[in-house]
Amino acid sequence: SETIAKIAAGEVVTRPASVVTELIENSLDAGATRIDVTVDGNGTERIRVADDGEGMSEDDAALAVDRHTTSKLDGPDGVDAVDTLGFRGEALPSMASVATLDVTTNDGGPRGTRVRVENGQKRVDPAGRAVGTTVEVRDLFHNRPARRKSLAATRTEFGRISDVVTRYALANPHTRFSLTHDGRETFKTTGTGYTDAVLGAYGRDVAGQSTEFDHRTTVEFDEREHALEIEGLLVYPSITRAQHTHVHTAVNGRALRDEVIRKATVRGYGNLLSNNRFPIAVVAVSLSPALVDANVHPAKARVTFRTESAVADAVETAVNDALTTADL
Ligand code: ADP
Ligand code: MG
Repeated sequence: SETIAKIAAGEVVTRPASVVTELIENSLDAGATRIDVTVDGNGTERIRVADDGEGMSEDDAALAVDRHTTSKLDGPDGVDAVDTLGFRGEALPSMASVATLDVTTNDGGPRGTRVRVENGQKRVDPAGRAVGTTVEVRDLFHNRPARRKSLAATRTEFGRISDVVTRYALANPHTRFSLTHDGRETFKTTGTGYTDAVLGAYGRDVAGQSTEFDHRTTVEFDEREHALEIEGLLVYPSITRAQHTHVHTAVNGRALRDEVIRKATVRGYGNLLSNNRFPIAVVAVSLSPALVDANVHPAKARVTFRTESAVADAVETAVNDALTTADL
């Protein structure tokens, strides 16, 4: 119902940056290799995310904006075993309840589809579109004056959006990202790996003093061995002028702030961090969905490892080994 959608909207769509988070996650779930984010003003005017993912059929697109339709839950273990980023089918309907929503998509058929939801009214039309999906959210919180008032100035809200795009770009270095604000491109990556993503986020000097790493191991859980892959990029701390710790963490492709990984990474740097030196690092952990509980927070910004100390030890070892053997 409309009421339920509004309650959900309060949890999922709290500010323009959360719209961007949800749309990027959808694009990644759709297998996009390219994600272009466009923002006007503080994001309430317009947010557009265009991808080259698998797209949707007309029927699926029409359903996607309805509450609790998700193509990502299969089988009784669905929520626990989820390996895609979104899985509750709440993001698009939540946006539709507080904004004008346009979804233009094509899954490879002869023509595409545009679904528009405006003031709760949905209409579906044919539309031209290459394979992929564009979601445009306009007039965000037009019917939520208090929420709108609570937003910060453009600079701050766009800063949050920029932060989200940067974090996802670092966590997904093989996807091309761009961010355009009021017609000006402010950030881009080429999708060619961690070094390039760090270059986009921190510049050439920092990227030049870094090492990519990739560490595979196993952890034991429930009397079974599970594969664990830790990869990313470590910047040698002596040359950075970082004023605080920048450890970008990701779990199974989702950019999120994870304290277990962050602390283990800092431990892995060890005494390289003496003399007030701070690390810049990207550390992405991939592991069996059976080892992660991703459903602990409505905004999905956190996960819990079912085998926390094993993950922490593996990250610390991976970081320490990579820094010890790096030719910096
Ligand atoms: P969830 O991601 O939790 O499934 P959403 O409301 O975010 O819920 O999206 C609903 C559905 O719409 C998704 O399950 C997916 O099938 C489809 N969808 C949304 N965005 C995209 C996209 N960019 N590309 C392809 N399909 C999409
Ligand atoms: Mg989603």
